[in-house]
Amino acid sequence: MKNLQENWEKTLELLKSELPPVSFETWISPLAAKKADLSKKILYVECGEPFITDILQKRYLSLLENAVKTIFNETYKINFIDSFHEKNQKKTEEPDFDEEFYFNPRYSFDNFVVGGTNQYANAVALAVAETPCKMYNPLFIYGDSGLGKTHLMHAIGHYILENHKKLKVLYVSSEMFTNELIMALKDKNKIRNFKKKYRNIDVLLIDDIQFIEKKEATQEEFFHTFNTLYDLNKQIIISSDRAPNKLTNLDERLRSRFSWNIIADIQPPDYETRVAILMKKAEIENVEISEDLRSVINLIAEKIKYNIRELEGAFSRIISFSVLMNKPITVSFAKENLKDIVSSGDLRINTENIKRAVCKYYNITIKDIESSKKIRSLAFPRQVAMFLCRELTSSSLPKIGGSFGGRDHTTVLHACQKIKKEVFSDENVSNDIETLKEIINES
Ligand code: ADP
Ligand code: MG
Repeated sequence: MKNLQENWEKTLELLKSELPPVSFETWISPLAAKKADLSKKILYVECGEPFITDILQKRYLSLLENAVKTIFNETYKINFIDSFHEKNQKKTEEPDFDEEFYFNPRYSFDNFVVGGTNQYANAVALAVAETPCKMYNPLFIYGDSGLGKTHLMHAIGHYILENHKKLKVLYVSSEMFTNELIMALKDKNKIRNFKKKYRNIDVLLIDDIQFIEKKEATQEEFFHTFNTLYDLNKQIIISSDRAPNKLTNLDERLRSRFSWNIIADIQPPDYETRVAILMKKAEIENVEISEDLRSVINLIAEKIKYNIRELEGAFSRIISFSVLMNKPITVSFAKENLKDIVSSGDLRINTENIKRAVCKYYNITIKDIESSKKIRSLAFPRQVAMFLCRELTSSSLPKIGGSFGGRDHTTVLHACQKIKKEVFSDENVSNDIETLKEIINES
């Protein structure tokens, strides 16, 4: 998994700076982190060369474990796997878990900043983590990209692994679930293992469920997984970029199950929360919070409103630029280096805002614009909104279609072409578009 590899690379970098080059190249650089067992706190590391595990064990184990502790922020025991031996022998200790068991240590409840727009999601996530399989089952968390869904799911995972040690927790992205299923379908044994894996757990965290829309076989399998776990009173936690009733390309049976218990949404954070998130980030990164840094944080929080990943990204960029260029962090330094972000509309403008602005302008409701009604008084604003989404955001056609009541990408394409023509031929339309662009840009 990405985080494991990222952390491992950082660990190697750290060791490189601590060891003589020859030792590093000979012993450490060929090592590869294969898997992490979070519950047993073991990191499985493959040796690049045969028969060196003894030497590694004697000379480098504690050095490696210390470096891992520094980078991963947690203590792991290292188990070396000699892959060259394994080819001829039966494996003795085979990790009986998958890489997705690896949770990002940074995604904890402690590091999750709570504000008005994620308070409820945070509270129910914590309740589920404290007493899994009891009251809140299933838990469904939804919100736009970059607002903390994965963070909360990992936080639940960590918490349960720490505090309910007997429970088997499995986190999986819906994409991974789908890919595993596709692989498993090729072979009877594999499908048996797949079913066993997903039905023998106590807590299932499945991320980005919108991914299985329109994938019938995956939906079917997930439906059975869901039912089995639910009947056995196991905890299920699902995340999505939309509310269950907006997952229009999902089997109705699944949609209704997702609404059986708790549905928590996460909305974009308010200004104060955005500032608090960056302050927390500075604290985690050990950046000294000077008066100047405070002003820079305020600037970034003012500009980036709808995506915490981008908010953090801009901040990290300033920090690393200042280190690279050896310049102090000041507001003018930040403005200079965030020019593209600060001036490009992209980050402030998303489909939801556009929809809202268009509805207000034509005096219709969000429900109307998402509906399938074809009368011109609704169809025209809908097409205008789709056109603006295409022009002003980087959303794909299917994604835009999805946020207008689950429409097909061809419908969006048609709307865009139609409005584009009308802008040239009809002055009223071109005025509408100009005014709307101004409204959206200033919002
Ligand atoms: P999503 O899964 O909804 O797309 P993520 O959980 O990946 O979003 O969050 C994106 C980034 O923003 C992550 O680095 C996460 O740690 C951070 N983040 C999101 N919400 C918060 C929060 N409330 N406090 C601190 N960091 C947050
Ligand atoms: Mg996510």
